[in-house]
Amino acid sequence: MNHVGLRIALISTPWPLFNRPSIQLGALKAYLGREVPKAEVDTHHVYLQVAAALGYGLYAQISERSWLSEAPYAALLYPERLDTISRFWSRHARGVFQDREIRLEKVCQTLKSVTDTIVDEKDWAAYHVAGFSINFSQLTSTLFFIHEIKQRAPDLKIVVGGSACSGEMGLSLLNTFPEIDFAVSGEGEVPLAKLCRLLLSDRQNEEVGLISGLMSRAGYRGKASEAFSQVPDLDVLPVPDYSDYFQLLNSFSPKKRFFPKIPVEMSRGCWWRKHSSKKGRGCAFCNLNIQWNGYRAKSPEKMLSEIRLLSEKYETLSLSFMDNLLPNKDLTSFFKKLASPGKEFRLFAEVRASTSREELATMASAGMRYIQVGIEALSTPLLKKLNKGTTAIENLEIMKNCETPGFPGLVSNLILHFPGSEQSDVADTLANLEFAMPFQPLKPTPFWLGYGSPVWHNPKGFGIKRTGNHPFYSYLFPGAVLRKLKLMMQGYHGGIRDQKHLWQPVKEAVARWENQYRELHQSPRSEPILSYQDGGDFLIIRERRLGEDDLNHRLKGSSRKIYLFCQQNRPLRSIVEAFPAFGEDKILSFLSMMVDKRLMFRENERYLSLAVPSKGYARDP
Ligand code: SF4
Repeated sequence: MNHVGLRIALISTPWPLFNRPSIQLGALKAYLGREVPKAEVDTHHVYLQVAAALGYGLYAQISERSWLSEAPYAALLYPERLDTISRFWSRHARGVFQDREIRLEKVCQTLKSVTDTIVDEKDWAAYHVAGFSINFSQLTSTLFFIHEIKQRAPDLKIVVGGSACSGEMGLSLLNTFPEIDFAVSGEGEVPLAKLCRLLLSDRQNEEVGLISGLMSRAGYRGKASEAFSQVPDLDVLPVPDYSDYFQLLNSFSPKKRFFPKIPVEMSRGCWWRKHSSKKGRGCAFCNLNIQWNGYRAKSPEKMLSEIRLLSEKYETLSLSFMDNLLPNKDLTSFFKKLASPGKEFRLFAEVRASTSREELATMASAGMRYIQVGIEALSTPLLKKLNKGTTAIENLEIMKNCETPGFPGLVSNLILHFPGSEQSDVADTLANLEFAMPFQPLKPTPFWLGYGSPVWHNPKGFGIKRTGNHPFYSYLFPGAVLRKLKLMMQGYHGGIRDQKHLWQPVKEAVARWENQYRELHQSPRSEPILSYQDGGDFLIIRERRLGEDDLNHRLKGSSRKIYLFCQQNRPLRSIVEAFPAFGEDKILSFLSMMVDKRLMFRENERYLSLAVPSKGYARDP
């Protein structure tokens, strides 16, 4: 290619959330636009077009379930497998679409028709490179789009990247599908920019195998699983460019338009991994970081200016932080600055359970509406096996804090069937669940084995005998294809049936919890289930009960003060020191009585009050 410029199409296929642009595409477009001035970059959010054609409601229901998401495009890729995939779809669709029966054939018809329109309306041969971002649930849809586009533009160079292409996964895609020319392992900015510069030069054939983080048919540098190439300092990144997404949305009829959320990122990787073990592997089940080598965060100043710029450019106030978890440094001062007058944001972010009440309060004042918290378990011994670095009492504390009026609402999972969990972990979970009943229920989530997670690296350590691609993939791909692939969802042998049996009582207890919570919050503006009103020298705790009258408890003098002191979990020693006149015996008998009534929680001589202020955030007494 000579100096005529390079046209690049960056494409994201179903099934990401339709109501926000792709941060991968936005970040790459901005970076390549700056680093390779001779390149012209267009982003194609084809998932938004597909969502509009399918209906936003149906798209959202399918996109929430990874196996349902992978099925329709698998049927389009391999039409001879339609019957098998149809049965697979019916099994996974049970209960998902409520009273409606949604047939796979019908979904495929719509998808085929909209995909044909998308593929036919663009002149793909006018591009030199098409880059596909493959993340969770995007594998079969990407493969189908690649197949269709490559038929119309056989000379187009196809690059795949994203979390589903890291290391051996990307290499296996390259080796299985001849339409794919390159696979990026790790983040895309640096390898893609280098590839573009090479394609603009005459050296492409000799040097393409030397680009770190890029696997090609010509070869690649080092071990596929380790040869990353990433931006060392995130502050040098340009602001993501989402203009193509907004242009597409604005081209829709008014009925199909909506106010999107803007994705922003403060960091890449996970700081907890560095703190959690010498090997830096983090939580045992997690493979969210396979794309990154180490942890990097943008400075608060860069983030503040980026958020303000994006909000003003796209005239939107809803933002989602895409970080695996928010940085642990300067969080309070960052959100204080973000909360400065003038912008009423609606924010979402993921945080660790150790996030303090003060940090949550500051986030709430900046507009944080919901947070996803890495709770995962309510048993401390199990949390240890998960390498979460948290305890049951810390988890209950953040669950309680999120119940406080005005605080961010909680979204969290409870992992079931974790390999190596024992009867005692389940018993512990069931006992502690009783104390969690006043709080937003956790979503029961069966453990799944992720490629690259610590459990996957050390299966024997968790009682797992054999690993390999998840058996469900065998419904989607022909055997000969599947044998060559290394995929994100892994299957395993070892104790699955026993684990399901073991965790059944927890599943049932969570269903009761959900039901009770829903019933007690049926009326609009309903109060927290367990709350207190402070009367200055006395305190009234109100306990709302299902099918029974409310129960009220009055605490006076030192009892009130101790209850307020334990709004954050405290060791017995510090309670005794804070209330010397009360005496340890009296304090202990008061605390035991409160635990018996489930108004407080106790773990290893630490105590936590469970009632939340009925009128929003209260400071320490
Ligand atoms: S689950 Fe969250 S905190 Fe744990 S390793 Fe993964 S990203 Fe880090």
